[in-house]
Amino acid sequence: MTFYLNGRFVAREEAVVSVYDHGLLYGDGIFEGIRIYAGKIFRLAEHIRRFYDSAKSILLELPIEPEALEEALQEGVKRYGKDEGYIRLVATRGPGDLGLDPAKCAAPTLFFIVDTISLYPEKFYREGIPVVTASSRRLPADGLDPRVKTLNYLNNIMAKVEAKQAGCIEAVMLNNRGEVAECTADNIFIVRDGILATPAPHCGILQGITRQTVLELAVAEGIAARETVLTRFDLYTADECFMTGSGAEIVPVVRVDGRTIGSGLPGEVTEKLRLAFKKLVGSR
Ligand code: PMP
Repeated sequence: MTFYLNGRFVAREEAVVSVYDHGLLYGDGIFEGIRIYAGKIFRLAEHIRRFYDSAKSILLELPIEPEALEEALQEGVKRYGKDEGYIRLVATRGPGDLGLDPAKCAAPTLFFIVDTISLYPEKFYREGIPVVTASSRRLPADGLDPRVKTLNYLNNIMAKVEAKQAGCIEAVMLNNRGEVAECTADNIFIVRDGILATPAPHCGILQGITRQTVLELAVAEGIAARETVLTRFDLYTADECFMTGSGAEIVPVVRVDGRTIGSGLPGEVTEKLRLAFKKLVGSR
């Protein structure tokens, strides 16, 4: 494990933040979850870009230039020393008083952790997983734009709880128009008649870096892909379904709200993309 806090690498005991930190008090902050494959940081430039975009959109001035942050992350991975791992990068408004006003926060807190990642069991990839639709909706862009990767995950967490209560590990979240948005911490895709489809950014999603990678792999594999509007009907009648995320990678979904998807096993296109993804990251 490696810890970096406000400009320097620290021991675990020193990797602590104030109880007055607005990231903790109000969820006022942003984060990234980044994978390390074969000793290299996967899609670092994309994560850095999303991190600085998130910061800009919430008027959070990060205390470090992107190039210096990249260097620190590379150094963190070197110190961590293993080939496979995960980076959690977080910036908060920093310690302030008990009021909401970010102007009362003297300086942002920026830290990252480099650690191992607990992967889903192999069974999930081999057999696929069931999901349910959650009643907790993804927040609309005029409330809190889902493109900002903020520390406010409570509605996603409540959707996750609903999934667990239904005996599933993941839930599909709809937007306020009832269209499919994404899962609680993953994007979602379907395949119908050989065509790949995923909710478009305007449906209220986080623009996942794994999602983008899958769309690029689809082009390379000659699979037609569309970013579009999907409803639950599209999920129920899909030939294949899967979700994507930095932690989960590509996980086949074989049941949605009790409806069996396709043959009830991971589909051909899903497997093709999973293989291409594995090849790309050069691991496992
Ligand atoms: N949607 C949400 C809500 C997420 O939190 C995440 C990240 N875990 C994703 C999608 C997937 O994004 P990425 O592929 O960049 O990890």
